[in-house]
Amino acid sequence: MPSFVITDKCDGCKGRDKTACAYICPHDLMKLDVGRMKAFNQEPEQCWECYNCVKICPQQAIEVRGYADFMPMGAKVLPLRGSDSIMWTVKFRNGTLKRFKFPIRTTPEGSIEPYKGLPEPKLADINKPGFFTHVGSGKQLPVPRK
Ligand code: SF4
Ligand code: SF4
Repeated sequence: MPSFVITDKCDGCKGRDKTACAYICPHDLMKLDVGRMKAFNQEPEQCWECYNCVKICPQQAIEVRGYADFMPMGAKVLPLRGSDSIMWTVKFRNGTLKRFKFPIRTTPEGSIEPYKGLPEPKLADINKPGFFTHVGSGKQLPVPRK
């Protein structure tokens, strides 16, 4: 079942340039109704149920209903992300709560330098083949035979 917004909880990310759910959705589904300052899933049938929007929402205003095979008895699942772990709360219809906490990283947040050791990009060359992340960077790309 696709994501849906609990409008009572959504605050439209307080009118920032882009809402967190719109920023994170890999399918560009989350939109903000600017008049009401409430987000909504504009195309629920396209939702991948990836939980990204659920995890990032600072108000815990988005839910995705899980299928019965992994969410017995129509339970709700609410993730709460921290900087090094995520807490999943499963709420069953009879009110029972189960919580599971998992680590989500092995290094301190912000410590990864993905471009360390790589040359500075030449932004002036961005439209040319062979920019610095390209395989074979710096070499002439093969030219099709005529
Ligand atoms: S991330 Fe949450 S609070 Fe922000 S606009 Fe989306 S649903 Fe609303
Ligand atoms: S569950 Fe994933 S695909 Fe569906 S609206 Fe949220 S972020 Fe987008």
